[in-house]
Amino acid sequence: MKKEVLGIAFDDLTREEAAQAGAAFLAEDKFHYVVTPNPEFILAAEKDGDFRRVLNGADLVLPDGIGVVYSAKILGTPLKSRVPGVEFAADMLDCLNERGGRLYLLGAKPGVAEEAGRRIVEQRPNITLCGTQDGYFKDEEAVLLKVAAAQPDLLFVCLGAPKQEKWMARWGRHTGARLAIGLGGALDVFAGRVERAPESWQRLGLEWAYRLKSEPRRAVRMARLPLVLVKAAGQRFKKA
Ligand code: UDP
Repeated sequence: MKKEVLGIAFDDLTREEAAQAGAAFLAEDKFHYVVTPNPEFILAAEKDGDFRRVLNGADLVLPDGIGVVYSAKILGTPLKSRVPGVEFAADMLDCLNERGGRLYLLGAKPGVAEEAGRRIVEQRPNITLCGTQDGYFKDEEAVLLKVAAAQPDLLFVCLGAPKQEKWMARWGRHTGARLAIGLGGALDVFAGRVERAPESWQRLGLEWAYRLKSEPRRAVRMARLPLVLVKAAGQRFKKA
């Protein structure tokens, strides 16, 4: 069931339910793409209709940030849970490892995808890393041809938003992959270059605060995030 938060229709799933849906995509001989919007996406999509359409056109729209979950609650249409992209990605890797399959990693700074791939395959030996490409390329079509030639089943697209979502919507079906996921900075996490917040912070819904503490340069970007909550409250009172 979908629940709308400021123009984006989210899937209301637990992490386990999202993993089941993703596993079904990986078993089907057809292209699917999954997006993991946080409050920054919602604000950007308000101004960019193309981005909004690409997000709402995804096979699965997972709430990545606690800000999305709070906004949904304020709107009176609560979501079951936050489903961080990096956790969904880990579940899909486990699923690919169980059935055996090919993984392509697209995005992040040069060297990061290779390191992430090395670590992933070390822990999940039934996965074949069929290719990597950094995220700082000019020729989109050339990258598509490279990805398609590698014949992946699962494709992580980590170019930052909205670039990664627009890339998946435009080129994804030509890659031959069964499932592409837009994952922002996840390759930096899988490569061990960025650490996620400790579980105690995550449980309290404070992953954003931990991120701000470790990367203070994000302060300007993050300062706009409470705006999503204010907008949600405004919409709720308009309805009342
Ligand atoms: N990135 C990229 N190409 C670009 C811009 C960004 O590959 O043109 C990468 C960047 O290196 C980082 C990821 O995209 O690994 C996204 O980072 P961001 O912090 O924006 O995403 P978030 O973690 O907030 O989802």
